[in-house]
Amino acid sequence: MKPAPFDYHDPETLDEAVSLLGRLDDDVKILAGGQSLIPLLNMRLARPTALVDLGKIAELDYIREDNGGIAIGALTTQRTVERSQLVKDRLPVLYEATRLIAHPQIRNRGTIGGSLAHADPAAEYPAVALLLDADFKVRSASGERTIGAADFFVTYLTTALGPADVLTEVRFPLLAEGVGWSFIEMTRRHGDFALAGAGVTIALSGGECSHARIVLFGVDATPVRSKAAEQALVGQELSEELIASAAQTARDEIGEPLSDNHASSEFRRHLAGVMTARALTEAARRAGWVN
Ligand SMILES: Cc1cc2nc3c(=O)[nH]c(=O)nc-3n(C[C@H](O)[C@H](O)[C@H](O)COP(=O)(O)OP(=O)(O)OC[C@H]3O[C@@H](n4cnc5c(N)ncnc54)[C@H](O)[C@@H]3O)c2cc1C
Repeated sequence: MKPAPFDYHDPETLDEAVSLLGRLDDDVKILAGGQSLIPLLNMRLARPTALVDLGKIAELDYIREDNGGIAIGALTTQRTVERSQLVKDRLPVLYEATRLIAHPQIRNRGTIGGSLAHADPAAEYPAVALLLDADFKVRSASGERTIGAADFFVTYLTTALGPADVLTEVRFPLLAEGVGWSFIEMTRRHGDFALAGAGVTIALSGGECSHARIVLFGVDATPVRSKAAEQALVGQELSEELIASAAQTARDEIGEPLSDNHASSEFRRHLAGVMTARALTEAARRAGWVN
């Protein structure tokens, strides 16, 4: 099918884009890499009156160190993130998450901002953003604001962004020295969206767990933290039994995972537990745990 008719705008600066979006009606859509939006247009699941293409706005394409973190412009492609030596060296969990997104052809065009704004519950970037507590910079005609990851993802394919808001940057804090991490998922085929996945950061003091953060994705309308499982770990001597019991808590803690032709709700719940246990084990080893 072909998309329904729409007006097309391709501003060359962020200021121009923001002022255009402020003037157009609420049925306008921002276009970035088009890897999610164009199929929706072609299937007429989205019928915007106008598209504002960010493709020419070079000022939104960058990766730089920023005050203890890495700041990435929204228009930076997933492939650029994957190839960044800075990301690989300083934030390997983001590098690993990027490599799990689709295939190189899609990562060549898909942008980090597009993935975060699209907010697919099985997507890697929303999960890694929640895991690391990333900040999102947003511009609109009324000014700039920053939204934390915990408030950004609202529900299925829905974020705190309004129709005239441009996500301009995501800033990931670096992990403290000694913090172990893991980011894994289960897919039916290489490059598919995850049936379920887990991101973990963990720190140990002696043999005791002094910090734990667990984020699951593909199992709810947004990525979710397993706060009860995190609490069950902190202050305890790490052991295989403790990891198994925390994974069981994480599995029991999630709501009602989606059931579709790829996996039943119960299978996704089971996978959430398996992914949590594997991710905790891998992250703990990176934090120096010897078992
Ligand atoms: C076959 C296939 C497999 C895929 N597999 C995966 C996968 O395994 N994991 C995964 O995470 N993704 C996957 N994707 C999606 C891919 O990562 C997309 O690139 C991404 O979701 C959207 O990025 P984009 O730049 O293409 O955004 P677009 O498609 O252009 O836009 C997506 C949405 O975000 C909005 N938007 C874009 N940029 C901004 C901005 N700066 N500010 C505000 N709103 C904005 C648009 O209005 C639109 O609503 C897959 C896609 C395909 C086609």
